[in-house]
Amino acid sequence: MGAADGKFTYDVAIVGAGVVGAAIARELSTYELRTVVLEAGHDVGTGTSKANTAIRHTGFDAKPGSLEATLLKRAYPLLGDYAARAGIPLETPGALLVAWSPEQLARIDALRLQAKVNGCDDVHAVSAEALYAAEPKLGPGALGGLAVPGEGIVCPFTMPLAFATEAVINGVRLELDTAVESIEPDAGAYELVTSRGRVRARWVVNAAGLSSDLVDRMMGHERFTIHPRRGQLIVFDKLASPLVSSILLPVPTPVSKGVLIAPTVFGNVLLGPTAEDLDDRTGTQTTREGLDDLLAKGRTILPALVDEEVTATYAGLRAATEYADYQIHCDAAQRYVCVGGIRSTGLSAAMGIAAHVVDLLQDAGVVLRHAAGHREVRMRPVGESQQRPFRDNDAIASRPEYGEILCFCERVTRGEVLDALAGPLPARSTDGLRRRTRAGLGRCQGFYCSATISALLHDRREPPTAQSRDADDLVASQVPRNR
Ligand SMILES: Cc1cc2nc3c(=O)[nH]c(=O)nc-3n(C[C@H](O)[C@H](O)[C@H](O)COP(=O)(O)OP(=O)(O)OC[C@H]3O[C@@H](n4cnc5c(N)ncnc54)[C@H](O)[C@@H]3O)c2cc1C
Repeated sequence: MGAADGKFTYDVAIVGAGVVGAAIARELSTYELRTVVLEAGHDVGTGTSKANTAIRHTGFDAKPGSLEATLLKRAYPLLGDYAARAGIPLETPGALLVAWSPEQLARIDALRLQAKVNGCDDVHAVSAEALYAAEPKLGPGALGGLAVPGEGIVCPFTMPLAFATEAVINGVRLELDTAVESIEPDAGAYELVTSRGRVRARWVVNAAGLSSDLVDRMMGHERFTIHPRRGQLIVFDKLASPLVSSILLPVPTPVSKGVLIAPTVFGNVLLGPTAEDLDDRTGTQTTREGLDDLLAKGRTILPALVDEEVTATYAGLRAATEYADYQIHCDAAQRYVCVGGIRSTGLSAAMGIAAHVVDLLQDAGVVLRHAAGHREVRMRPVGESQQRPFRDNDAIASRPEYGEILCFCERVTRGEVLDALAGPLPARSTDGLRRRTRAGLGRCQGFYCSATISALLHDRREPPTAQSRDADDLVASQVPRNR
């Protein structure tokens, strides 16, 4: 496995390339460290990180003093700055939290005070009249609520791809299709026994999501157990988008943030998620009962929405544990950091978690020297509010393939598909292409374009055209480091 031949010793091995592992890899790539990321999946971001509600949480309702609250707060400005630099679709429509019963209304002031303690000073109470003025299609019966101006929406696909791409172009080694099966101590280092051979590293960082407890056990601990909590979601067609402009939140319960309605960065409307405790760590199927439950709740919140066409349904599994908080532990003597149990807010907190892990490593004695010439990435625009190639005359003039639409629902061009098949982290499947370009994500779900796109995927030996982009095109420039 290349450098993973059991002789070369990395400074750090990260297990898992979801949004959390990829964010940690990006952060470590800014230092003079030899880092490897071992990912069981075929691509980065194929676990829970691709199947969530894609809200950028402020942490206004997090438990004050918890690590989750602290890291959400730390992540908020980091993600805002980084998304702007890296071209990650991110919008801040703000949220309205709606009380539908006198009991819920009675909790509004406590939630406002909690938001204040969590540093969200702009959260304020709103009357029922103000709710209906802001969201005229809201169902009858809203009694009042809270405005949370900082809540946003983000592209969950671009985030881990940007982090991982930046890590790779700065020297981090990424090994896909590489499941860590056991970890053996070996003379001041570890041998990680993987499905593709052995990898030696001094430090292990466990970012294995739904398997983070299993990797923790490989390191000899019995600290927590993952109890997957499934969330099913419904994606409504883009024609539904005029129905709602902000994120409509329910009053949260101790078990779940509840069912919300939100616009997406692709111009759709999301309804979900459910909260179902499962034993099965692979149970990402949707169910009739789950979807019916969502439709019933949706009918209360935004009645007109449930009459709109459904584009897709999906489900993701939260890495819930017996504890309410993240399970982040650093064992300095063991040279091990566990980053597990990142259940409902990992997308929003990923950059804060990564910065925290770097602090833990430094406190544990890892020498961190900034690497010279760190390069940042600029991802290709996939957000609805971004300048996408099909409507960019300059891009089309410079490369005619940007004028040739292959996926008509999402207006994805041949040029974008070819771009996604090249570069430092190319798509290796139609799912990978979907997450990089949106091809196949639209209302026909690939019915019209999948044959053409599959042919391009299988013909990856096609020589790049003179204008086609390569790894260097993803590198914005030599920009100042963010730390
Ligand atoms: C329904 C739902 C809604 C959500 N909504 C939001 C939201 O709106 N906003 C928000 O911020 N968060 C949200 N979340 C939470 C967020 O999606 C997660 O916290 C985040 O994706 C966790 O990222 P991760 O990297 O820890 O896990 P993952 O994305 O699951 O990544 C872990 C990776 O580790 C790999 N792996 C596991 N075991 C091994 C092994 N032995 N060897 C090698 N690799 C291994 C896996 O293949 C996987 O790719 C939601 C989650 C769900 C399920």
